[in-house]
Amino acid sequence: MKQYDVEIFLFIDALGWELVSRTGFMEKELPFRRRIEMQFGYSSTAIPTILSGRTPAEHGHLGLFRFAPESSPFRLLGKLAPLMKPESFWNRGRVRHLLSRLIGKLYGFTGYFQLYQMPFRKLGMMDYCEKRDLFAKGGMGQVENLRDLLDRLKVKGHISDWHIGDRRNFEAARQAISAGTPFLFIYTAELDALLHQYPVLLHDRIREKVEWYRTQILSLFQLCREQKKSLRLTVISDHGMTPLTRTVDLRSAVEKTGLKFGRDYGACYDSTMFRVTFLKPEAEQIIRSAVRPFEDSGHWLTENEEKYYGIYRPDRPFGDALFLMDPGIQIAPSDMGARALNGMHGFAPEDKDSQAVILSTDEIPDTVRRVSDYFQLMKQRIEERADTLKTEPDAAS
Ligand SMILES: [Zn+2]
Repeated sequence: MKQYDVEIFLFIDALGWELVSRTGFMEKELPFRRRIEMQFGYSSTAIPTILSGRTPAEHGHLGLFRFAPESSPFRLLGKLAPLMKPESFWNRGRVRHLLSRLIGKLYGFTGYFQLYQMPFRKLGMMDYCEKRDLFAKGGMGQVENLRDLLDRLKVKGHISDWHIGDRRNFEAARQAISAGTPFLFIYTAELDALLHQYPVLLHDRIREKVEWYRTQILSLFQLCREQKKSLRLTVISDHGMTPLTRTVDLRSAVEKTGLKFGRDYGACYDSTMFRVTFLKPEAEQIIRSAVRPFEDSGHWLTENEEKYYGIYRPDRPFGDALFLMDPGIQIAPSDMGARALNGMHGFAPEDKDSQAVILSTDEIPDTVRRVSDYFQLMKQRIEERADTLKTEPDAAS
C-alpha cells in the first residue's frame, strides 16, 4: 500500500454533485469521483457526522435547536422575553447577531452559536446542540471526533479553524504542509454562503468561486511538488443546494389552532422541516389536521425513513413527528429566518440537488457512499499512518 507524505481531506461546504458535473470541476486532477448521499439534516448535522462517522441518532445533532424545556440553558432569557419590546427591534438581523455573540460568551459556548430568528419567548424551552467546538479535543463528548482520533493515534494532524475564512484556511494548510504535517483536514464554507444567495449553478459568482478553489488546490499540488512530497488529496462535501420554488407559512397554520406552545406542544420550525413534540395527546390530531393542507408540499417522515436517514431515536429528542418539505419549498417565516433564502439544503437526501461529492487523486474505496462514510475513510488512512510510525520509530520523533 502506497504511503503518501501528505494526506489532505478538503471539505467544501455545499459543493454538490450537480455543480461538479455541470462545471466539470477538476476532472483531470481529481479523476476519481463519486456522487455521495447527503446526511439528512443541515450542515450542523453533517459536520458532526463527518467528524465522527456517527449518525444524528448517535451524536444528537439534528437542527441547531430542539424543544427541551428541562435541559434548556436559556431559561433565564426566556423569562426576560416579555421585557424585550418592541419585538421588531430584537428581531433585527444585526441585533440578533450581536446578541448571539454576547450570549455565546456569557454561556461559555465554544461552538457555533446563532439565535437566528428563534423567538425569545420560546428560547427558554429550547436546547442548543452545538454548545461545544466540534472540531476541538473532546468537542463531541463521549463520541470520538477527528481530533481525538489523531491524538489517540499520535498522528500529527492539522485541522482548519472554522472561525476564519477560506483564504486564511488554505494559507494555514500550506504552512502546515511546509512544517511537515502529514494529515490535513481543511474546512471551507464560503461556497455554501454564496450558493444560498445565488443558487444558480452557472452564475458568474459561483463559477468564480469554484475557479478560486481550483487555484487553491493547484497551489497545494505545487507546494508539495516543490517540497518533493507525495500527496493524496480528497475533496469531500456535505450536500448541494436547491433553488427556492415557493414558501409555505406552516407556522401560522399551527399557531392558529389555539394550542399553547409549551403546554400543549413544542416545536422547531427549521427552514425545510417542522419538528413537533406533542405534550397533550389531543394536540397530535389537531396539529396533524392543521398541517394537512401542506401535504401537497411535504410529508410526515415514516419510522423507516427516519431509520434509513440515521435520525430515529425511540426517546424522540428531535420531536415526536417530523414534517419534511418537498425539494425547493421552504417554511417561511421559520425559526431560522423571517424570509426564505434563494437556495436551501436540508431536503430529502435522494433529491438530485441534495447530492454531495467525493473527488480524489486516488481510488475511493467502494464502501464510501454516504456522508457518514467519510470518517471511516479518514480513520483508515490515519491508522495506516500510525502503523507506519510504529514500525519506523525514528519517524515518530
Ligand atoms: Zn448552508
